[in-house]
Amino acid sequence: MKTHYYGGISSEGAEQAPCGVWLGEGSGLSGEWGRVDCIRCQSHKKKINESAAAEERAIVEQMGDMAAFMREEGNREHR
Ligand SMILES: [Zn+2]
Repeated sequence: MKTHYYGGISSEGAEQAPCGVWLGEGSGLSGEWGRVDCIRCQSHKKKINESAAAEERAIVEQMGDMAAFMREEGNREHR
């Protein structure tokens, strides 16, 4: 059994590891690199980490937009 890296919030419903391997019953997922024994995941580690960071940034940005929107809405209500 190979353990692939998975940096998402939930691995439930994930069908494909970030290295491109389709996940079967014999595949595990872990968010900890120390437990990842898939060579392809390990060799893509830098790239995967970068895309995970980019994704995080996008999420944070989105949440910032949402917060700004909520503030706008809140201000409107109090007026
Ligand atoms: Zn893998």
